[in-house]
Amino acid sequence: VKSLIIAPDWIGHAVMAQPLLATLKRQNPEQHIDVLARPQVAAVFAAMREVDSVIDVQTSKGWRQISSSFAQGRALADKGYERAFVLTQALDLAVIPRFAGIVERIGLFGAARYGMLNAVHASLGQAASSMIDNYAQLAFDVGQTALTPVPPPQLRGDKERERMVRAKYGFADDEAIFVLCPGAGGHASKRWPARHYAALANLIANDWPDAHIVCLGGLHERTLATEIGALSGQNVRNLCGTTSLSEGLSLLSQANGIVSNDSGLMHLAAAFGRPQVAVFGATDPRLAGPRSAANANRIQTIWLAKECSPCGQTDCPLGHLRCLHELGPQQVFTALQAAMRTTRTNRKESFR
Ligand code: SF4
Repeated sequence: VKSLIIAPDWIGHAVMAQPLLATLKRQNPEQHIDVLARPQVAAVFAAMREVDSVIDVQTSKGWRQISSSFAQGRALADKGYERAFVLTQALDLAVIPRFAGIVERIGLFGAARYGMLNAVHASLGQAASSMIDNYAQLAFDVGQTALTPVPPPQLRGDKERERMVRAKYGFADDEAIFVLCPGAGGHASKRWPARHYAALANLIANDWPDAHIVCLGGLHERTLATEIGALSGQNVRNLCGTTSLSEGLSLLSQANGIVSNDSGLMHLAAAFGRPQVAVFGATDPRLAGPRSAANANRIQTIWLAKECSPCGQTDCPLGHLRCLHELGPQQVFTALQAAMRTTRTNRKESFR
């Protein structure tokens, strides 16, 4: 069987698609799986051992969009795909399997427009992490339930690329790397304050003076990362918006410790199974928390569960953001230490 996955555009959803691919491979180990993906998620699929190849999206924007989708669909028509799994609602991508003449087109109800799908599954839940179950059920006939429980997402690190990234950024092989991910898309109510990240950087630097502390995220998080560096007075390397996604993945896959908000990077870190603390505020970690195949103690989730939590709002409706302001750096640092005790390494990271 030859399958084509039409990738979602959000990093978190891309990670959550991995259990679907793993299930397809388990059902038929000989199965060939290609993924059609935009650049912002292509590297995530390249880190999945189930993927044979990642195909770049060639569609244009504006009035030429549908004609370019048609052209890409026709270019895929002779590749022998028997079925397509449409994991996106983006029209320019979702329509490609139809243009490619792929007979079986499978997806969730939300993507079922204009006859693009002919096997339509109902959504199993709207919570962020429910996307893992929503996607995994696509491996089964409509109406059948997926494996219970669905295995958590797993990504593999690329040792050669990890070495290249270390060399590029000047990190020696025996030096520890701590990754801080202070962004949360446009959700101020998910962002742990910069001053707390800065205080955490101080705690890390105090215990691991030889370690590198980097901030990872998009271009729109550069100012935030600069603020964290300035407030801490530490050499916090601001890599927001400067690494490619592939380099970012290589930093996460070899990090000695990662601290993030509820974000796509949180899901990536969990899929690599590295020691991690996920800080939650306005959202509910029971619904949106990281799922990982790693030792449960290695993935620490911290949430104060205030009486107003989870409000699920983008900005704090009460104006005080106590759910995150009152979550102190020492608490996160203690959780980070606990997560790190689950790994053994020869890097310079012993407690002083
Ligand atoms: S209302 Fe409560 S849970 Fe929501 S952002 Fe404000 S403090 Fe956090």
